[in-house]
Amino acid sequence: MKKALINIDYTNDFVAEDGALTCGEPGQRIEDRINAITNEFIHNHEDVFFTIDLHQKEDSYHPETKLFPPHNMEGTSGRKLFGGLGKIYEDHKDDNHVFWIDKTRYSAFQGTDLEMKLRERGIEELHLVGVCTDICVLHTAVDAYNKGFRLVIHEDAVASFDQAAHHLALKHFAGTLGSEIYRNGGIVK
Ligand code: ZN
Repeated sequence: MKKALINIDYTNDFVAEDGALTCGEPGQRIEDRINAITNEFIHNHEDVFFTIDLHQKEDSYHPETKLFPPHNMEGTSGRKLFGGLGKIYEDHKDDNHVFWIDKTRYSAFQGTDLEMKLRERGIEELHLVGVCTDICVLHTAVDAYNKGFRLVIHEDAVASFDQAAHHLALKHFAGTLGSEIYRNGGIVK
């Protein structure tokens, strides 16, 4: 079965100590695993999609404006990939199986051409990593489930600022969306 990695929102604003909407330490702790999984997909010539939140200044029509402080604003350092992942992307962004997709909603499918790219390539299984487990990862997983993709969640490569919500989302992936849960690259559930 052909698979792809969906790398969600691992940017400075969501992960760095001074990020605008940071997961903090839980987010920083998964850096090595995110980088390792990303490198593995890249080196196996499998498709990797960086699906990254994009916001515009003073967008009063955007539903998140009422919910969260400004984050991942276009052209800011807050929107750059956190830590070593930035270099991995820079080194491989011209590879024909590495993609950057701007998204403006929680789900990587909403208003993007992600599904078209996956279908064109015959991809049936999606591996999800990134943040936040219970927001953008969860919404992307729900859409993927409804579209009939098989799901793998790497529990050591997703994180949230809310630990209770993180664990609830992990339960939901396995129990309701039928995801396989991986740790250290191997299945645990
Ligand atoms: Zn956002």
